[in-house]
Amino acid sequence: MTTRIGTIQRIAGPLIEADGLFGVTMFEVCRVGAEELIGEVNRIVGDRAYIQVYEETSGLKPGEKAVATGTSLDVELGPGLVGSIFDGIQRPLPSIKEAVGDFITRGITADPLPVDKKWHFQPTMEKGTSVSQGDVLGTVQETSVFLHKILVPPGIEGKITQIVPPGDYTIREVIAQVQTATGKEDLKLTQRWPVRIGRPYKTKISTEVPLYTGQRVIDTFFPVAKGGTGAIPGGFGTGKTVTLHQLAKWADAEIIVYVGCGERGNEMTEVLEDFPKLKDPKSGKSLMERTLLVANTSNMPVAAREASIYTGITLAEYFRDQGYNVALMADSTSRWAEALREISGRLEEMPGEEGYPAYLGSRLADFYERAGRVQTLGTDYRVGSVTVTGAVSPAGGDFSEPVTQSTLRITKVFWALDKDMASRRFFPAINYLQSYSLYKDELVPWYQKKMGSDWPELTEESLSILQRDKELREIVQLVGPDALPERERAILEAARMVKEDYLMQSALHPIDTYCPELKSYWMLKIIMAFWQRMRQAIDEGIPLRRIIALPVVGKIARMKVQPHEDVKVMEQYFKDLENEINNEFISIEVN
Ligand code: ADP
Repeated sequence: MTTRIGTIQRIAGPLIEADGLFGVTMFEVCRVGAEELIGEVNRIVGDRAYIQVYEETSGLKPGEKAVATGTSLDVELGPGLVGSIFDGIQRPLPSIKEAVGDFITRGITADPLPVDKKWHFQPTMEKGTSVSQGDVLGTVQETSVFLHKILVPPGIEGKITQIVPPGDYTIREVIAQVQTATGKEDLKLTQRWPVRIGRPYKTKISTEVPLYTGQRVIDTFFPVAKGGTGAIPGGFGTGKTVTLHQLAKWADAEIIVYVGCGERGNEMTEVLEDFPKLKDPKSGKSLMERTLLVANTSNMPVAAREASIYTGITLAEYFRDQGYNVALMADSTSRWAEALREISGRLEEMPGEEGYPAYLGSRLADFYERAGRVQTLGTDYRVGSVTVTGAVSPAGGDFSEPVTQSTLRITKVFWALDKDMASRRFFPAINYLQSYSLYKDELVPWYQKKMGSDWPELTEESLSILQRDKELREIVQLVGPDALPERERAILEAARMVKEDYLMQSALHPIDTYCPELKSYWMLKIIMAFWQRMRQAIDEGIPLRRIIALPVVGKIARMKVQPHEDVKVMEQYFKDLENEINNEFISIEVN
C-alpha cells in the first residue's frame, strides 16, 4: 500500500480535517502531526478527510501532515490477552496509575501483547494436514484456568507444510506454514482483526442456556441467555456498577471482558484493584486469570472511548471463536453515546434527539448484534457465545431519553433500576414489576433440569404474589391495612418474604453475594411452601399474627446467609426447614 500524505487544515478538539489524502477510505487509520498521533477516518467529503484522533490533539497545528496507513483500526489477538488492561485502542495499561492517571505518552505505539514472553505451544495438527479457517493448530495454557486455542485465521485454507514441535515460542515466531491456493502463509500465535467488523462464524444457534449469575432476582425472574443481550439502565447510585461487577465476578462464563467506558477514574480503580483480589468461585484462582479490562475513564480522549466498545467486543468474539462462553460488560454505554455525540457535533452533522446523531440507534444495534451463541468456524464442532450487558446512565434516571430508548429497542433483557428501591437500600434495586427478559421461555427446560421441574410454577406464583402485593398496597394507602381481610394481609406477608428474604441480596455479604442454582431453588420453594401453609391456616381461621410469630419465620429470613459450599449439608438444612414449617403449622393448628 502506498503511503498517502495530506495536510492538516483544521483542528476541532478530537477531530482534525486534512486535505490531500487521495483514495483514503472510511475507518482507515492515519497518523497525524509530528508526534504521529493515531486517528481514524470517519467522514470523507471530496478531497477532505475528517479524522477522529485517539489522543489529546492540543499542540497540533494546521499545515502539519496526516499520513494514511492503509490499515483499519484493529486488535492483536493471541496469548497474553487474559489479565490485560487496555485502553480503547488496545494499548496496554500495565498499571492502575496509567489507567486512571496520566495517559500514555502521545503517539506511542505500544505492543498490545508481550513480545518477548515465551508461551508453551502444544501443536494439535501435523505437517501435511489440510486446514481451514477456525481450525485449532494447537494450544497454549495461558493461565492456570485458561487454555488458549491457537486458530487458523479467517480466510486461510490449505495444507500445513511446516509446524513447530511442542516448545516455547514468542508471538513473533512463525509456528506453522500453510500452503494456500495463492502462496505460503506464515502463521504465528497471534492474528489481527479490524474492530469495526464482526468476526465470522458458521451459524448463530439458539440461546437455550442461561448465563447463570448467582444474583437471585436476575436468575429467577429476568435471566439473560448465553449469547444474549441485556441493558441495565438506572440513575446515579442505583447500582449499575455494582450489578455489572457482580456479573463479572460470578457469571458462569470462561472469559470476562469488562469495558469501563468514560466512568470516573476512581470507579475504574475499584475494578482494577478489586478484580485481581477476587477469587473465581469455580477455580479458586484470581479473577484476572479469566478477565480482560478495557479502560477508558472520563479523563481519557473521547474518540478512544468511542472505539473502546468495538475493541472490547472484538476481543470477546475471538474467545468465542475458540469455543468459550464470554461475557462482556460495558459501563456505561451512555458515556459511549456522549462520545459519539461529541464527535458528531464536531463533524457538524445534523443533530437528532437531544443532540445525538440520527445513527445512534443503528450504531448501538451494530454493537449489540455482535452478541450471540454460535457454531464457530473450524472443522470440529465448537459452540461459543458472547453475552453483552450494558449499563445505561440516563440523567435523573429518566428512561425516556434517547440512549435508554434506543438500547431497549435492541436488548432482550431489561433490568430496570429503581431509584426508590435504592434509596430504601433494597438491593439489587432491580424493579421486579418493570423489568423483563424475553429469554425466559426458551430457558425453561434448562432451569427445570437444574433446579427442579416445579421451578416455573414457583417463579410464576411468586411473581403473581408480587403483583397482587402492589395492587393491595395501593388499596392499603387509601383505606389502611386494617381494612384488608386476613387472606389479603397474608399475601402482603408472603410478598414481604419474597422481597426481603429472597430478592434482596447483598453484594457485600461473603455468602449472600453469590447464590448457586440449588440454593435459589430451595429458598423459593421454602417461601412458597410457607405461603401455601399460611393460606391453609388462614382459611382454617388461624389469625395471621400467630402465623408471623412462628420461629420459622426468622429462620426463613436467614436462609440467604446459609453456607452452600457443601451441597448435601445445604440440602439437608432446607429439608429440615421444610419439616419445621410443617411441624410449626401443625402445632398452631391443633392449639
Ligand atoms: P451506579 O453505578 O448506578 O451509580 P453503584 O453501582 O455505584 O451505582 O451503586 C451505588 C451504591 O449502592 C453502592 O456503593 C452500594 O453501596 C449500593 N449497592 C448497589 N447494589 C448493591 C448490592 N447488590 N448489594 C449491596 N449494596 C449495593
